[in-house]
Amino acid sequence: MEELIKKDLVTSGKAKSLYKTSNEDLYILHYRNDTSAFDGKKIESLEGKGAINNKFNAFVMKHLEENGVSTHFESQISDTESVVKKLEMTPIECVVRNIAAGSICKRLGVQEGLELDPPTFEFFYKDDDLGDPMINDYHIESFGWATSDQVEEMKNLTFKVNEILKELFAGGGMILVDYKLEFGDYKGKLLLGDEFTPDGCRVWDAETKEKLDKDRFRQDLGDVVESYHIIANKLGII
Ligand code: ADP
Ligand code: UDP
Repeated sequence: MEELIKKDLVTSGKAKSLYKTSNEDLYILHYRNDTSAFDGKKIESLEGKGAINNKFNAFVMKHLEENGVSTHFESQISDTESVVKKLEMTPIECVVRNIAAGSICKRLGVQEGLELDPPTFEFFYKDDDLGDPMINDYHIESFGWATSDQVEEMKNLTFKVNEILKELFAGGGMILVDYKLEFGDYKGKLLLGDEFTPDGCRVWDAETKEKLDKDRFRQDLGDVVESYHIIANKLGII
């Protein structure tokens, strides 16, 4: 394959930067150390976070591909960079929850730790200024953010990911509490985009229920990057 040359910055989000490449179908995704919470109101740089998330994401995306979920992931090319397919992103966050934690506890007045059987699903509109409001299928279609077929596909794929990853985390002695996925169009096909890392999911130790994900940052529990390494270790990534 011809050498891929990194070109202009396309966009810099809260935790990653996206670059054009010499191949117009491919981007380079750079995982930075920047860590944010509360729609960007709390920001810190955490040494080593970009590298562990890049490695973590590569492992999870490959595992999902092996289990029949099509993703944008192509290859990891450095400690903090991966090549991905260029997607037309839908401005939607798809969240599946196996256990109640975070915003659902505040919104519905339920205790953290409540088991959700069956797991529940929520759509959010990706807009920091609006605080990523929760939306439903009808909003997505009425505002033209995605088609009804894509809405169904996003739900099905997000639940399929749950079956695959719940098992993966359970095998490492952990509980996958909840997570957020983003999808985008690639030449007419909906692919899983963005990332799957401890920045965008909740993972608890199955025995102790210790939080190992970005809640350590949100709640000032310390050892954020160290905990990401603990999850990676338990999964055999490092
Ligand atoms: P944010 O601040 O938006 O939460 P990040 O710092 O994670 O985001 O920046 C990554 C940005 O790149 C997000 O807007 C995400 O939707 C977008 N993105 C992720 N994967 C792709 C892709 N394959 N093609 C195009 N855009 C992507
Ligand atoms: N999440 C995310 N990005 C967001 C909002 C949520 O990655 O902009 C993830 C979050 O890490 C958690 C899940 O989606 O794993 C559900 O988040 P929740 O709605 O509970 O919001 P929070 O209280 O975490 O902001």
